[in-house]
Amino acid sequence: MLNLVLFGPPGAGKGTQSKKLIDKYDLIHLSTGDLLRGEIAQGTELGLEAKKLMDDGKLVPDAVVIGMISNKLDANKDAKGFIFDGFPRTVAQAEALDQLLESKQSAISGMTALEVNDDELERRLLDRGKESGRADDANPEVIRKRIKEYNDKTAPVAGFYQNQNKFKNINGVGSVDDIFGALVDVIEEYNK
Ligand code: ADP
Repeated sequence: MLNLVLFGPPGAGKGTQSKKLIDKYDLIHLSTGDLLRGEIAQGTELGLEAKKLMDDGKLVPDAVVIGMISNKLDANKDAKGFIFDGFPRTVAQAEALDQLLESKQSAISGMTALEVNDDELERRLLDRGKESGRADDANPEVIRKRIKEYNDKTAPVAGFYQNQNKFKNINGVGSVDDIFGALVDVIEEYNK
């Protein structure tokens, strides 16, 4: 199985690159942000609770997102592999993901991080907010909070995969196709 973690701050381009990767490698895309927005759209209890945190730029509790991922893994037993986008976002989530995959005799193939500087991130997110209607993308203060949450809680997840020799960084600034090419080069190494 090819199980990829796409890593990087909000606005790094994980969603854009995930779409291209699922087409190329026939993988299932698991984005916790999309799953949470789906819950909000359906007006579920979970969605209502998550919305308050998301609109404030904060992370949703680990147990909530781990539960959603676990359900999706169970619902896609015959998948060729998965792309995890926006998950794991804390070391506790990374540990839980390792356990979930181990119980299915599988494992993470590798984590690839898209590197983008903070100024470029803020610009991209504000641009996206104009079109997407995402409340968390429209407000500079919320954007800065999300980047801070990322630096405080999520950045350490890179070390977790570095310790397992499963971490690679690539430049996330440039054309979508060039970045995709660099990602594919990394992934081909896992396929060897
Ligand atoms: P972005 O990467 O642009 O910040 P996402 O769509 O991945 O956007 O996430 C939007 C929001 O959803 C986050 O700011 C956070 O509140 C919540 N969220 C998404 N994934 C997770 C996660 N794995 N753990 C905790 N909260 C999450």
